[in-house]
Amino acid sequence: MRHRVVVVGAGFGGLFAIKALRRADVDITLINGTAYHLFQPLLYQVATGILSEGEVAPPIREVLKRQKNVDVRLGWVQAVDVEAKTVSVAGPGIDYTVEYDTLIVAAGASQSYFGNDEFADHAPGMKSIDDALELRARIFGAFEVADLQTDPEAVERWLTFVIVGAGPTGTEMAGQIAELAHRTLPGQYRRIDPHKARIILIDALGAVLNTFGDRLSSRAQRQLEKIGVEVRVNTKVVGVDSTGIEVESERGRERIGSMTKVWAAGVAAPPLATKLSEATGAKTDRAGRMLVEKDTTLPGHPEIFVLGDMMNLAGEDGRPLPGVAQVAIQSGRHAADQIKRRLAGKETGQPFKYFDKGSLATISRFSAVASIGKLRLSGFTAWVVWVAVHLFYLVGFKNRVTAVLHWAVSFLGRGRSERVATQQQAFARQAIRAYGDPFRRETADRAAMESGPAGDGEATRVP
Ligand SMILES: Cc1cc2nc3c(=O)[nH]c(=O)nc-3n(C[C@H](O)[C@H](O)[C@H](O)COP(=O)(O)OP(=O)(O)OC[C@H]3O[C@@H](n4cnc5c(N)ncnc54)[C@H](O)[C@@H]3O)c2cc1C
Repeated sequence: MRHRVVVVGAGFGGLFAIKALRRADVDITLINGTAYHLFQPLLYQVATGILSEGEVAPPIREVLKRQKNVDVRLGWVQAVDVEAKTVSVAGPGIDYTVEYDTLIVAAGASQSYFGNDEFADHAPGMKSIDDALELRARIFGAFEVADLQTDPEAVERWLTFVIVGAGPTGTEMAGQIAELAHRTLPGQYRRIDPHKARIILIDALGAVLNTFGDRLSSRAQRQLEKIGVEVRVNTKVVGVDSTGIEVESERGRERIGSMTKVWAAGVAAPPLATKLSEATGAKTDRAGRMLVEKDTTLPGHPEIFVLGDMMNLAGEDGRPLPGVAQVAIQSGRHAADQIKRRLAGKETGQPFKYFDKGSLATISRFSAVASIGKLRLSGFTAWVVWVAVHLFYLVGFKNRVTAVLHWAVSFLGRGRSERVATQQQAFARQAIRAYGDPFRRETADRAAMESGPAGDGEATRVP
């Protein structure tokens, strides 16, 4: 029997590990919760109507169709049995287990509300296609609802957009909502003036894009202010509800009326990290990320690699490596290399060395900041670098072509190609919570039908 590699997660870490194993003498099973690979760095463009969801989320089966040593399976890994070397998976309407010889876990990160999970209903995060489509519905919907209001205070609340977290995602979101309000929508409403929209970017720290260093950070702030974003740093969010947000700063406590809030602050490890930590005894950090050995395996388990956003591994400066695509990609390739060495009978355990290729963030069309080695770029040059890098890493040729067309519509013109937002997108979160997994429900409904009348209807209830 060939060596069996099970990969959990088809993000950057999992996908690049698999690609690096394409010629290896192994059977790979890839298990992912969704049927697509998600290019998270462009999610904000889905939320603001520039790109379609398909452009940032190619089907995994299509991406890997030529790689014959991979079997793709849909489902969420629930637990790992490290003794039996199996993972148990909740698929759509079916549970199953898969055996492994080597396990690669690259399940990414989820949103953290720093212990205030109740904020989530009012301020969706930006981690998934569902999040981005819900935000699209909320953002475009806010202008529509504002147009119907007669009370000026209500108009103001609907035209106030608050983005919490001034890292790259928050900055990009704020910049795009500002462009939407000031470039795309003016002239399309008769009762409201989209120019009057307030876009407020809030961060508890003292600077926007604080990891980019003082110079780029202040340039980014100036650029944001130039396009009409109100930047509020050193400001802590202490409450979020349906009609506004409470903040604390040196000015004291204050309420900002806003119907549309976006949460772009804080990440936490996915639930699987806790399960894996319980199963292996591996430690986790405060965010739940798993502390790995230098070769990215778990202590005492050389057969389990943990990669990307899920791992906590110190870089050269002693600080944990950042949760960025390059860390995931390079750690994925490193794990594949270790597996190939092991199969070839070579020594393993080589430390993972991260090569920092730099950081990029866009602010608005034709304007970005880039920190590449000692080079600090801003403005148009940085934006061109941003376009080139994103096109290079965007998975799938078709996606690159259509993304370029949509960028031309939005950046050269004023339009947005993807303004459709359905009721499902706006309200699906509550519906899914109430209804549960539709595939499981269908299975339960069928079982109930086969076993006769359901009586009080309990048989169709899905846990
Ligand atoms: C909005 C946003 C913008 C970003 N912008 C940038 C940027 O500009 N530049 C940059 O370098 N980085 C950026 N990042 C970070 C970057 O996307 C991540 O660092 C990278 O995706 C991490 O890769 P990963 O493989 O660890 O996890 P992910 O890419 O998150 O993939 C995890 C995969 O695991 C699957 N999964 C999770 N749990 C399970 C389970 N239990 N069972 C089965 N499957 C599971 C998920 O469905 C997902 O497909 C951004 C992130 C976000 C959210």
